[in-house]
Amino acid sequence: MGKQEDFVLRSLEERDVRFVRLWFTDVLGFLKSVAVAPAELEGAFAEGIGFDGSAIEGFARVYEADMLAKPDPSTFQILPWRGEGPSTARMFCDIEMPDGSPSYADPRHVLKRTLSKAADRGFTFYTHPEIEFYLFKNAPEAGEEPVPVDRSGYFDHTAQSKGADFRREAITMLESMGISVEFSHHEAGPGQQEIDLRYADALTTADNIMTFRTVIREVALGQGIWATFMPKPFTTHPGSGMHTHVSLFEGDQNAFYEPGAQYQLSRTGRQFIAGVLHHAREISVVTNQWVNSYKRMMFGGEAPSYICWGHNNRSAMVRVPMYKPNKGQSTRVELRTIDAACNPYLAFAAVLAAGMKGIEEEYELPREAEDDVWSLTERERTALGIEPLPKNLNEAITIAESSELLAETLGEQVFDYFLRNKRAEWDEYRGQVSAFERDRMLPVL
Ligand code: GLN
Ligand code: MG
Ligand code: MG
Ligand code: MG
Repeated sequence: MGKQEDFVLRSLEERDVRFVRLWFTDVLGFLKSVAVAPAELEGAFAEGIGFDGSAIEGFARVYEADMLAKPDPSTFQILPWRGEGPSTARMFCDIEMPDGSPSYADPRHVLKRTLSKAADRGFTFYTHPEIEFYLFKNAPEAGEEPVPVDRSGYFDHTAQSKGADFRREAITMLESMGISVEFSHHEAGPGQQEIDLRYADALTTADNIMTFRTVIREVALGQGIWATFMPKPFTTHPGSGMHTHVSLFEGDQNAFYEPGAQYQLSRTGRQFIAGVLHHAREISVVTNQWVNSYKRMMFGGEAPSYICWGHNNRSAMVRVPMYKPNKGQSTRVELRTIDAACNPYLAFAAVLAAGMKGIEEEYELPREAEDDVWSLTERERTALGIEPLPKNLNEAITIAESSELLAETLGEQVFDYFLRNKRAEWDEYRGQVSAFERDRMLPVL
């Protein structure tokens, strides 16, 4: 038993922990949890806890369903919303097959595998997400438009604001679980909030995002309101994205930083961006995985629709932030496609794989977009070589189906399951008769 395991076993007694929740994530990004008694933990560290994988989205076929959840002791935390003494704790798990090999269906493993490929080339991948979400007065009711908790807008500071009270409680809870928050503010839509997590290695960030979504939902329920990460809940208000700032480090040196270069962005940084742009269409189904995701990216509203990069250009898909002239080790690039309803393990794996491809193949970075690309005409964009992102889930699936990069990154099992599941979502959606059609057509046809 290692040091970290010992620490966990000791904490169980010191903190009077009665339940330990073992957390993992299904292929679509939903959190799964099994509670074990503290007495079981020693065995769980050694051998894992068995469960039926066939009942989890994307995990296994019925005849090969036995799987093991093996807790990662470095992720041990008390769940603050369950109270203290007696308390409840959680750990994220790696999923293994009965023979001890990693499960190919485990999204956490997909990310770990991609990170270790980058590590073979000397790189650590850091990410810093800006997570947006809406707060509504009530739980959703089928067929009804949700009512936001306030009417404030971007950066608004209003007296007795529901949003500010909410953010304060949520951030206090996140910090108590070891998740540092850098910024938080009201976003542009009514009831829309943003909370930005401090940068960390991508595996920690992905775990933190899973915890974040749970904390946000718990705090909302505790305050009698409802939180959603749905990418585009309203036609007329901005959607919720998860802009993610990324960088690669070699040891303690930022590999994107080069003093004196344009925007102080190194060759490695430029090639990484080139990779992300070049493969943006193929990985879109992972960074933006729902029918609804594509409705966020078609009205401007600072969500990208076109594949281009720029500095300080908020219509660009990739932005090189220029807040400080001497960014040094904090040099990074901001990806603006990803939404907060993605599976963060798969999304980070896909982005890293695309960026690494750019570095390996020494892709040339296209010219930066200096204009607001939404205000250009189709013809002007074509002349500048600016291509559109997929316009809907169907297009994203079709492009992804022939992507070698995505197949290799996700692995055969996740790739097949994921695309089959998304195809089914699209097929169900395309047969739905909507209020839009009835409102337009019944009066005149
Ligand atoms: N809500 C916008 C999006 O969906 C982002 C707005 C912003 O952070 N400037 O991407
Ligand atoms: Mg922001
Ligand atoms: Mg924002
Ligand atoms: Mg941003």
